[in-house]
Amino acid sequence: MAKPRRMAGVAPSVASRVCAPAALANPARPGPDTYPGNRRRCRIGREPLLEKVVGFALFGAFTDSTDNGSTKEHTDMADKSKIEWTDSTWNPVTGCTKTTRGCDYCYAERFAERFRDVPGHPFESGFDLKLRPERLDQPLSWRKPRRIFVNSMSDLFHKAVPFSFIDSVFDTMEAAHWHEFQVLTKRSSLMVRYLRRRYGAALAPPHIWLGVSIEDAVNMVRLVHLRSAQASTKFISFEPLLGPVGEFDPQGIAWVIVGGESGPHARRISEDWVIDIRDRCLDAHVAFFFKQWGGLRPKSAGRLLQDREWNEYPQLTGA
Ligand code: SF4
Repeated sequence: MAKPRRMAGVAPSVASRVCAPAALANPARPGPDTYPGNRRRCRIGREPLLEKVVGFALFGAFTDSTDNGSTKEHTDMADKSKIEWTDSTWNPVTGCTKTTRGCDYCYAERFAERFRDVPGHPFESGFDLKLRPERLDQPLSWRKPRRIFVNSMSDLFHKAVPFSFIDSVFDTMEAAHWHEFQVLTKRSSLMVRYLRRRYGAALAPPHIWLGVSIEDAVNMVRLVHLRSAQASTKFISFEPLLGPVGEFDPQGIAWVIVGGESGPHARRISEDWVIDIRDRCLDAHVAFFFKQWGGLRPKSAGRLLQDREWNEYPQLTGA
């Protein structure tokens, strides 16, 4: 039986809830922390050293198959991100656990686990959830306004992240008002609860974009949660898009991103699913961004949809 991992910066009782064998042994109740895909991650950390070394070498060949691409992007902060829809990434938290099938081949996990047990590496503890308070002020030092993807290597609303730490992240985002922050989560109900606690009946400021990641129709409940969130600027990322999302009305959403999965296990995306979402956005005058078709590498199949790129961004009012 796997030994629960220690999570740096997180109380042991919380850490054991996240990767405890008892939780992982209950696939009948999938959900946060019990999703069966987490077993796979716990095995990654037990790769023999030779496999790690080979994996390390191979990973170089797939560097571009991650969403971000470079070691610098993941190890500290990325002043210039390779993600098409952002300028920089900021990771005051790293590490996560899987919650739905959109997480199955999580690029962040794949990257972080390659460095488990590498002494001194920022991902020495692999993809175990870790708070990084020393990074909280980073955006304040970036004087030039930019779009910043918050926690490209984690999920800010993971239940092991204390609200007090999320408060510190929001304090920085509010203070650094000259940037646009892009916060994306699969833990949409926790995001709703947190925003209500922080803002009451008011809304988060427009420069803090709050979004949900949705992979298929089964998980459209996250859009229901997003609609009820105390946020001024709301967005959806349909990436990796793994199936049709069905009927939905994007009214009230500022921005929609769509992308196919990339990496060695990339699952198929259908042009029909993308066009359906794009057309709904056009009808509702919602900004639409098509990131990629995916494949072994993000750029394997390009990012043209019906012979053109779609690179729209939200038009903010009152920012
Ligand atoms: S929620 Fe995001 S960061 Fe966490 S495991 Fe899933 S895909 Fe990876």
